[in-house]
Amino acid sequence: MVYSVKDALRNEGRSYEICEEIAMEPLEYIGTINFVTPVQVKGTYSCIGEGIEAAGTITALLGMECDLCAQSFQMPMQLDFSEQFLLNGTDDQDYYPISDDQTIDILPLVQDNIISNIPLERLCKEDCKGICPYCGVNKNFSTCLCTPPEKGNPFSVLRKLVD
Ligand SMILES: [Zn+2]
Ligand SMILES: [Zn+2]
Repeated sequence: MVYSVKDALRNEGRSYEICEEIAMEPLEYIGTINFVTPVQVKGTYSCIGEGIEAAGTITALLGMECDLCAQSFQMPMQLDFSEQFLLNGTDDQDYYPISDDQTIDILPLVQDNIISNIPLERLCKEDCKGICPYCGVNKNFSTCLCTPPEKGNPFSVLRKLVD
């Protein structure tokens, strides 16, 4: 994931290949994001005067938990990236650093781009029915006889019998 950019810095405009398969550790981002398969990164980097520009495509298969039913599901992701690395370090959040030994590490770039493309709402399917709040059954797989209280709770009948 670390590339020496010595040559690139001396050959402005020439592009160099990025081709990686990264076995990523799970990310903690509002719950755990697992990587079902290695993340593929394909692209190029080149010197653009003040630094290095890296651009390409990230392909990943994410494993997450559904917000509604808590089932694990997989979500394929493919995204284009274009990021810049600057020499002499930088505090600017928009850029990544080129280290003193003239290398760039693309892992932070890959993680940041994946995180910013994860949907805020993680659903196993668009019309996930979720979990019944009364009996806990996963309503995607089975139905239950629970009825919301305002429509008449079956237990209210029992309660009357008990009284
Ligand atoms: Zn679900
Ligand atoms: Zn139920």
